Order: sequence, then structure tokens, then C-alpha cells
Amino acid sequence: MTTAAQLENLHHKTQDFISSPRKMLVNGQWTTSASGKTFDTLDPSTGGVIVQVAEGDKEDIDRAVSAARAAFEDGPWPSMNPTARERCMHKLADLMEENADILAELEALDNGKNVAIARAVDIQVAIDYIRYMAGWPTKIMGNILPLSVPYAPDAKFLGYTLKEPVGVVGQIIPWNFPTLMCAWKLGVALASGCTTVLKPAEETPLTALYIGELVCQAGFPDGVVNIIPGYGHTAGAALTTHKQVDKIAFTGSTEVGKIIVKAAADTMKNVSMELGGKSPAIILPDADLDIAIPGAASAIFFNQGQVCCAGSRLFVPDSLYDQVIEGLAEAANAMKIGPGLNPDNMVNPLVSQIQYDRVMGYIDSGRAEGADIVAGGKRRGDKGYFIEPTILGNTNRDMKVVREEIFGPVVCVQRYNDVDDIAKLANDTIYGLGASIWTKDVSNIINIVPKIRAGTVWVNCHNILDVAMPFGGYKQSGFGKDMGKEALDSYLETKSVCIMA
Ligand code: ADP
Repeated sequence: MTTAAQLENLHHKTQDFISSPRKMLVNGQWTTSASGKTFDTLDPSTGGVIVQVAEGDKEDIDRAVSAARAAFEDGPWPSMNPTARERCMHKLADLMEENADILAELEALDNGKNVAIARAVDIQVAIDYIRYMAGWPTKIMGNILPLSVPYAPDAKFLGYTLKEPVGVVGQIIPWNFPTLMCAWKLGVALASGCTTVLKPAEETPLTALYIGELVCQAGFPDGVVNIIPGYGHTAGAALTTHKQVDKIAFTGSTEVGKIIVKAAADTMKNVSMELGGKSPAIILPDADLDIAIPGAASAIFFNQGQVCCAGSRLFVPDSLYDQVIEGLAEAANAMKIGPGLNPDNMVNPLVSQIQYDRVMGYIDSGRAEGADIVAGGKRRGDKGYFIEPTILGNTNRDMKVVREEIFGPVVCVQRYNDVDDIAKLANDTIYGLGASIWTKDVSNIINIVPKIRAGTVWVNCHNILDVAMPFGGYKQSGFGKDMGKEALDSYLETKSVCIMA
């Protein structure tokens, strides 16, 4: 169990929320699963049970999709005045702000992450994003088209486009940023006038369910937002093949993304995919190391490296290698390790036993393939899923740890000699989510940024996300964008209208 000492310091609303089994949200009602089954959600710092959660499966997905379909076809939501839609969304953002500390505690409990960072980053950006997206309904518009129609030269036409919601969306999210991913998905669906069935990750259902409570209080029509916790191969799979679902929006691993794209092909769903990464952080020879070294450390160790755009391949010029490795090891060794409910702990547990085993397997593989273990490499404590921040030195492109996404606090450092080769080295991966360049020289930026095949390139920073900045991948990191105006593109159909006078 989660320890009594941890629980007694929590806000009473957090304690209430985890004091009885959580249900699923279908058509504005909280219900148990059709099968009556529940699953345990665990505290990664102890491995103990936090609370039971209703386990959704095909029948629950059917009910939720029917509700979302009815809300889309016959309900007030898609045709509601844009200003009224905006008001509902602002109300939701206000309620999230009022409950931000509870959301942060639930996130720290369920995911394991640092509660203060969750409040400042995950929860705040989630709130900001709902507000950002709340600004869009009044600004979604088509165009007037200057038609020529060469085979009807004497006729007069008015041509224009309408932007219309794509319909019922199935949204499947991962466990690394549960509140933020929930907000990314709900915000754009709601702004575009879609209705949704959202499935949180089985490891971390609590904050999405809490947001479901706030959705009910915010006054959205029934059926607009449905939340079904459950496993990927059951509830998730049922959503991806459902005939009444028009679009699937997925954030998670490339491996599961491929399964979902195939599953959604039969009914030709609109699909957007935000997938894995193996993002390069490139220190150039002129970099300011006082910024680049702590920057490279936070690029990989933030959120225990459970970040799809984490700077997991660090490129260092041969001439700076020893200095960078020494600074990085110092930063890694100084990080306090422990449960996320204590805000002083900067390295928290990985989310699950499965994730712990996976990351440890990669560390062993790196060791076996000849990487230097410069820092970390071991478990910390004897309960919970804690792994020390780990630096693998002298790695190369052929090692499994360099080629595959580890999704843990493990950075692979590679040496290089020639700046002219750096873009090629950085692009030597199936992924293309993020990249960072550390330099003081603007001509390096101008030369290298266009050569990097990645959806975001940071300069002298890494992992900076903003509501206005589109985020998404190239190559096997996926397609379609979250955040920014571009997020709306894949939630809107374009209808051409042609009127002959
Ligand atoms: P991670 O590698 O981050 O654990 P996954 O890609 O395995 O992430 O899971 C992300 C989300 O995808 C979770 O909500 C999970 O339940 C869901 N999922 C996993 N397998 C499937 C599947 N076959 N069909 C639909 N959803 C799935």
C-alpha cells in the first residue's frame, strides 16, 4: 500500500478521490464497467495499490462511442455558438486551476513524478493549453475561393470552404504526462467541435478521471467527453477498430502506433500519431558549457527520461569529451533520488515494474556492448522502481542502446570530430521527434537547423514545449501535430461549397 505517512499529508480532496473505486464516464454518468471488472492502479514509489479503477472493455467502448456519436449527430455541441463552446472550455480551465494542487498530487501518486514539477509544468501547461484552445472556436474559418471554371465561362460562381469537425474521436494517451496528454487531446477535440472517447493509460488513469469530474461540472453536454480507463489490447483496440469512430489520435510508442495505424486502416480513419524518439542533443565546439552541460543533463533526466523527445543521444566534440563527461556525471550524481511526493527529490521512480525491467535490460545491454558506465547504472532502494541517472560513455551507432528508445534516465554519449558530419550523425535514427543544438554561433544555427530531420529543433535549450508551438514527429516519430494552430488541422474536415448564380 501507499504509506500512511504519504497519505495523511495529501489534500482532503485527493484523499477522498482515492478512497473508493473509480468509475468510468459515459454519457455524463459515472458507471462501473459492463463486466464489473476493476484493475489496480499502483504507486510506483512503493509498488502498492492506490485504488481500484473500473476496467473498460469492448462493451464499454461501444456504449461510450454510441454516446459520443449521439452527442455529435443530435446533440448541441458541434453546432453550438463558438462563443458558448469557448465559455465551456474556459470554465474547464478555471476548474482545473482551482484543483491544480489536487491534480498535481494525483499525478505524483499515480505516475511517481515530482509533485512540485507536476504542478509547475504538467498541470500548468495543461491548463494553459485548454485556455489557448478555448480561443480557437471563434477563429476557425474557411476561405472565399476565386473560381475560374474554364468550361463555364459565362456562369458566375461563389466558391468557399467550410471547416467542420471530423466527428467522433478516439483518443489514446500514455502514462508519462497523464494530465498534459489528456489536455492536449481534449483541448483540440473540444475546440474543433468533435466529441471524444478518451482512454488513459492503464498505469495512470487517475488524473484523466479527475478531469472527467471537472468536465461534468463545467457544463459540457452529455456524451461530448467520455473517459474509459482500461488496457490497450482490449479497450484501446476496440476503439481503434470501431466503425462509428472517425478519427484516432494516439500518443505512445512507435511499436503500438504501428499496430493502431493498421487497425484503423480497415475503416479508413483519420489518424494522428505522436510516437517515440531518440532525440540528439548536439554540443558544438563553441558551446557555452556552463549552459550546455546542465542543459544536456536535464534534457535526459527530466521526468526520469520518460519523455518522447528526451535528449537521449548526446553528441560531444572529441576535444570537449572529458570535460563534458565530468560535468554531466557531477550533475547526475548530485540529483536526489526518492518519491515524487517529496518535492526535493529530483529523480523519482519509473512508472512500473515493466518499465523498470526494460530500462535495466538496456543498461545491461549497453554494458555488454562495451559502453562505459560513467554514472549510475543501478537500482536505488529495495522497493519502488528507482533507477539512478545513468550515463553511458563512448557509445557508438551500432549499439542497441543508441538505436532503440530506452524511455528511462539513460543517456548515450557519442564522440564526434567533424562539425560538417554532425547533421548526418544526428539523423542516423528511425526517429525524428526533437533535437537540440548548443552553440553561440548563429551561422551554426542557420546551417544545421535545416539539415536536422525532426519536428522540433531547440537551440541552447531542450524539452521546451509551449501551447503555441506545434509539436510532433518526422519519420517513425509520427505525423500530425499537437499544440499550436496546426493541432486543429487533423480535427477539421474542409468542405468546398460551389454556388452557381
Ligand atoms: P508506452 O510505451 O509509453 O507504455 P504504449 O504505446 O504501450 O506506451 O501505450 C500508450 C497507450 O496505448 C496506452 O493507453 C495503452 O493502453 C495503449 N495501447 C497499447 N496497446 C494498444 C493497442 N493494441 N491498441 C490500442 N491502444 C493500445
